[in-house]
Amino acid sequence: MTQLNYRPGRIFLSVPHMGGHERNYVQKALEDNWVTTVGPNIPGFEHDICQHTNAQHAVAVSSGTAALHLGLRVLGVQPGDEVICSTFTFIASANPILYVGATPVFVDSEPETWNMSPELLDQAISAGIARGKKPACILVVHIYGMPAKMKEIMEVANRYEIPVLEDAAEALGSRYSGHQVGTFGRIGVFSFNGNKIITTSGGGALITADEELAKQAVFLANQAKEPAPYYLHTQMGYNYMLSNINAGIGRGQLEVLEKRVKQRREIYSYYRDQLSEVEGLEFVPEPKFCFANRWLTTILLPEGFKPEQVLQELEHENIETRLLLKPMHQQPLFADCTYFGNGTSDQLFERGLSLPSSSSLTEEELNKVIRALKQILL
Ligand SMILES: *Cc1c(COP(=O)(O)O)cnc(C)c1O
Repeated sequence: MTQLNYRPGRIFLSVPHMGGHERNYVQKALEDNWVTTVGPNIPGFEHDICQHTNAQHAVAVSSGTAALHLGLRVLGVQPGDEVICSTFTFIASANPILYVGATPVFVDSEPETWNMSPELLDQAISAGIARGKKPACILVVHIYGMPAKMKEIMEVANRYEIPVLEDAAEALGSRYSGHQVGTFGRIGVFSFNGNKIITTSGGGALITADEELAKQAVFLANQAKEPAPYYLHTQMGYNYMLSNINAGIGRGQLEVLEKRVKQRREIYSYYRDQLSEVEGLEFVPEPKFCFANRWLTTILLPEGFKPEQVLQELEHENIETRLLLKPMHQQPLFADCTYFGNGTSDQLFERGLSLPSSSSLTEEELNKVIRALKQILL
C-alpha cells in the first residue's frame, strides 16, 4: 500500500508547478471523450516538444524509462551486448540496459559537469574492443540538468562509430554550445515525471533526427502491432503509450518551460549568494559551453559534515533534501559489472546534498532553508 509522507508546511525537493493552461487541454480532452491513448493532444505535445528542442521527431510515451528502453531497442542493442553508461545517475538510466538483456559498463564522471568523462569513455571503449567486445551503445546522462561535455563525447563516439543515447530526463531546457541537450546523440530522452522540471504527472519522450527510428519506437510502444486488418505480430512490443489526458497536461507545461528554467536558475543563484559566507561549501558552476536548467540545486558540504546528518537535521525542520546519487558501480545490483573510475562520483556521493528546488518555492520558504542550513553549517 502506498503511503503519503507528508506533514503540513513541508518544503519539498521538487514538486509539480502548473502554468494554468493545462486544465484547458485536459478539459477539452474530457469534453471530446479523448480519454485514451489516442487524441489530438498526443501529436500536439510531440509537435511542441520538437519546437522547444529543435528536434525533427518526437515520440511521447508513458515514462522516461520506457523511452530509454525503446531507445536501446531501436538502436539495435541485443542480448549479450555491452552498453556504456554514466555511473553517476539514477537507476532508471541503467535498468533498461538489463531489460534488453545487455550488460552495462559504467564510466565515471569528470569533476566539472559531474557527467561522463570523455577520457574514461575512450578507455572503456578501447578496453572493450581489446577483449573482443565493442560497446553497442553509449548511454550518456545529463545529471541534475547539467549538460555533459557533448563535443568531446561525440568526438569519441564518432571515432569508434558507436551510437549515443542521451538520457536528458532531468535536463529539458538545458543547452550545450547553444543546442538543446538530447539533440546530439542518435536519440535523446526526456522524463515528465512529477518531480522533473515540467510534468505530465507521468510520462516521457524520445527525440531523434531519424524518421525511421521514430517510426520504430512508435511501433514498439504500441505492442508492435503490424499494419494488417487482423492482429499481426512479428516482434515483441510494449504498451508504452501516453494518455491523451497526460499529453494535455504536457502541452500546458511546455508553454511555461522557459519560465520554469529561469525560476530554477534563480533559485540556484539565490542559494549560492545567500550561502556564500559558509566556508568550504561548494556549488557546481556552469562550465564553458553549458547552460543548465538547474533542475536541482546541489551542494558539496564543507569538510567535517556528513550529508546524512545534515539531511536528518533539515528533516526536523520539515525540509526535504536528498543525498546525491549513489553511483551505479556501488549498487549491489551491478556488483559484477565492469567500471572505469577515477573516484569522482564516489566523492560526490560522500559530500553532496540536493536542496529544495521547486520553481514554486516562495522567498520565505527559500529563506527558511537557508536559515536552517546556516544554523547547521556556521
Ligand atoms: C527521472 C529519470 C529517469 C526516468 O524517468 P521516468 O519518467 O521517471 O521513468 C531516467 N533517468 C534519469 C536520470 C532520471 O532522473
